[in-house]
Amino acid sequence: MSDHRSLPRISTSLVVKAVLAIYWSRLGSLNALEMTHSAKFWKTWLDGPLCSADSLGRIVASVDAATVRQGLHHVYERLKRNKALPDLHGLAVAVLDGQETSASYRRCCAGCLKRRMANGQTQFYHRNVTLMLLCASPPSRPAVRLLLDLEPQRAGEGELTTAVRLLERVLAAYPRAFDVLLADALYAAAPFLNFLWSHGKAALVVLKDERRDAYQDAGGLWAQQPPQLGSYDARRCRWWDIPDLRSWPEVHGGTRVVRSEESWTVQRQLSKQASPQTASWVWLTTLSVAQARTEQVVRLAHLRWDIENQGFNELVNGWHAGHVYRHQSGAIECFLLLAFLAYNLFHAFFALNLKPALRRGRTMAFWVRLIAAEIHALPRLVFPHAPP
Ligand SMILES: [Zn+2]
Repeated sequence: MSDHRSLPRISTSLVVKAVLAIYWSRLGSLNALEMTHSAKFWKTWLDGPLCSADSLGRIVASVDAATVRQGLHHVYERLKRNKALPDLHGLAVAVLDGQETSASYRRCCAGCLKRRMANGQTQFYHRNVTLMLLCASPPSRPAVRLLLDLEPQRAGEGELTTAVRLLERVLAAYPRAFDVLLADALYAAAPFLNFLWSHGKAALVVLKDERRDAYQDAGGLWAQQPPQLGSYDARRCRWWDIPDLRSWPEVHGGTRVVRSEESWTVQRQLSKQASPQTASWVWLTTLSVAQARTEQVVRLAHLRWDIENQGFNELVNGWHAGHVYRHQSGAIECFLLLAFLAYNLFHAFFALNLKPALRRGRTMAFWVRLIAAEIHALPRLVFPHAPP
């Protein structure tokens, strides 16, 4: 990785390695980092002394984001070559999602989006669209998920525009990384589905808008069709699968609507009584029946929700990736991309590098504490005078 400074005194690699360690140990702020600055760990991990919090923020702001993206690609390539990223149900799957990372009334930068709040004040915030690769588990290993790339949403544009800009870059860099893209109801839009179709990729999105012709048309058809019976986890399901729906002619390649009515019971903790639950889903996909049977579509579509608490949310809540280490659009983007790199390396290490015997019975949180402990270990705690 490189940055835009001329005659740098501190190397880019030192700064990058320090930032990765901040995420791995979940330090959460640059000031927390400064407190650990005499730890022995830094002398062995970095090829020089740890720089100040201020220098670190300033240097990350000048890092060339394209070179961080190359770093992410390098990790992907290595894992792919080592067969650590198997397909899911016979398909290579990615998830696209838009997230807000930070909001403030006081601080803003050139990359900030603005909105008027109910209290009349203007709030500044940042939003990104993120792409994550989902994989199956290699034999006797946990599955690895990789955050591949992000694109900041610009002022005045909708999320779909940002998403297309992201995908154009991702499809050029990772032409074969995924076959099908999962996304929420916002992405059930003809231009977006057609964009994917023109690149030979399928979409699987939530179909929510009841006004949409496709929804109403499918509704008419499933009223006449007996459901397929199936199951998802412990849920009993009734599925309707309507291929070749012609009611949305703007979408190239034909659309298919899958509906799943699911029922299961939950044991109430207090009353010990079984309480019945139901859920109803409708998805739109451009996957053909030959590419994915009804059951596969349902399993893939549920993944979209199963990863809600992992991936980006895990980064923001557990890794403090939403923290604004330096409020400047280039810095925010680079810190997040470095958080992606830290996330990918950590999960690959946990799933693939740790021997199963060592991993067994120890949660991911255990390894995080172990890393943090090393960073917080001082060479020698010196108390100048013992109390009398
Ligand atoms: Zn900003």
